[in-house]
Amino acid sequence: MDAPLERTLVLIKPDGVKRGLVGKILTAFEEVGLKLVGLRLVQASRDHVANHYPNTPEWIRGMGEKTLNSYAEHGKDPVAEMGTDDPMAIGEIIKGWNIDYLTSGPVVAMVLEGYHAIGVVRKLCGHTLPLNADPGSLRGRFSSDSPVVANALRRAIQNLLHASSTVEEAAHEIRHWFGEEGLCSYRRADEAVLAGKDA
Ligand code: GDP
Ligand code: MG
Repeated sequence: MDAPLERTLVLIKPDGVKRGLVGKILTAFEEVGLKLVGLRLVQASRDHVANHYPNTPEWIRGMGEKTLNSYAEHGKDPVAEMGTDDPMAIGEIIKGWNIDYLTSGPVVAMVLEGYHAIGVVRKLCGHTLPLNADPGSLRGRFSSDSPVVANALRRAIQNLLHASSTVEEAAHEIRHWFGEEGLCSYRRADEAVLAGKDA
C-alpha cells in the first residue's frame, strides 16, 4: 500500500504569536495525531516572506480574483477602494499587504507530518475568511477579522495561520523555511495506535 503520508508547512502568523495562541494551536495539531517534525520561531525578512509565495502570474491573478469576488459579495467598488479592478494589480497589492503582515512580528514556522497532512491541516485551520471558518476550526475559534475592514485599512486579513495547500506548495515552503536538513525523524509514542497497527 502507498501510505498517503504527507508533510506540510504551517506558519503561526504574528497575531497568533502576539496573542499567546502558540500553545493552543500546536495542541490542536498534535492531538489529532500529526507529528511535529520541524519548529522555529523566526522574525522573517521582507525578502524571505516574498519568496515564500509562488509568485507565478497565475497565483497573483488568483489572489486578485478572490479579492474582487469578496468586493462584489460585499457590494464594494474595487476601483474606489484599491484604485483598480485589474486582478493582477490587486493580487500584487494583496501580496504586499501579506509581506507587511508576516514581517510585523515573529512567526512560528512548523512542519507537520501525517496521512493527508496537507488537507487535514487546512481543515483544522478553517476557511481564509474568519466569518466563513467553521466554529470548531482554529480560525473559527480564534479570529474574527473582516475583509471589508482589512481592505479599507490596506492590510491583510488577520487569520492567524498559513498552511500549504498543495504537495508542490508544501515542498517549496518546507525547503524555504527549513532548508534540506532542518527536520527531525522520530517515533511518536502513540504511532502504532494512530497507524491502526496495535489492534
Ligand atoms: P489562505 O491559503 O487560506 O491563507 O488564503 P490565500 O492564500 O487565498 O490568501 C493568503 C492570505 O492573504 C490570507 O490568509 C489573508 O491573510 C490574505 N488575504 C486573502 N484574501 C484577502 C483579501 O481579499 N483582502 C485582504 N485584505 N487580505 C486577503
Ligand atoms: Mg494560501
